[in-house]
Amino acid sequence: MNKNRLIALVVLTASLISGTGCSPAVRVDRDILFQASTIGALMKGIYEGQMTVGELRPYGDFGLGTFEALDGEMVEIDGKFYQVRLDGTVYAVPDSLKIPFAAVTFFDNDKAVNFDKQVDLNGLQAYIDTLLPGVNLFYAVRIDGKFSYMKTRSVPMQVKPYPPLTDAVKDQQVLEFKDVEGTMVGFRCPPYIEGVNVPGYHFHFLDKDRKQGGHVLECTTSGVIIVVDKTAGMLMALPDTPGFNKLNLGRGEPEGLKQVEQGK
Ligand SMILES: [Zn+2]
Repeated sequence: MNKNRLIALVVLTASLISGTGCSPAVRVDRDILFQASTIGALMKGIYEGQMTVGELRPYGDFGLGTFEALDGEMVEIDGKFYQVRLDGTVYAVPDSLKIPFAAVTFFDNDKAVNFDKQVDLNGLQAYIDTLLPGVNLFYAVRIDGKFSYMKTRSVPMQVKPYPPLTDAVKDQQVLEFKDVEGTMVGFRCPPYIEGVNVPGYHFHFLDKDRKQGGHVLECTTSGVIIVVDKTAGMLMALPDTPGFNKLNLGRGEPEGLKQVEQGK
């Protein structure tokens, strides 16, 4: 984090502190969602990388985000980082590449379910909700298998002065797959996280060969395994830069965020 001082904010739920539900001594490190910057800052065009991929690596082996200058969608699976650039093609990521926004955790299999039904993204999310004890914790969700339909997007690299995210995504590229195998990587964040992260579900996708993918806009499942990792703590690293410090972040921009996340 070099120049930008790390400001760490740790939020631990009562279950972690009291030790009910899991053993904090062993699992606190693995069961923490680590987040670089905030979705509100990204919405306002803070695309300068605040930490490198190498610096992010110790905080998780699973996650998503974006890269310096909004140069594509970031996906981390099994400790390996992938960059899905504008054309939907996947590139290897050097440890030196910088990240303005990301959320990662160490993925544990807390619950795995075979799901053979054909449902769209809304149906899938509604089904995953039935697997969870509630919506007030963070959940990392990994979905491997077959999709009869997958629609992803990636974002174009921006030049300074950076425009807000709602403008940047106007030039997004959408990819559609039929009968594709692959992995959805994502999180379900609680509703109260508005302005900090994306409330509800946020998924990125990579095909089985890790050659194509992007931010998931729509999908139809066709035989998948859903694995859920309950994550009851959060650690944030905020960019201590003039750009970030001067922002009026308020409570976020729910309408703009919906537009950006759902591509509508
Ligand atoms: Zn995304």
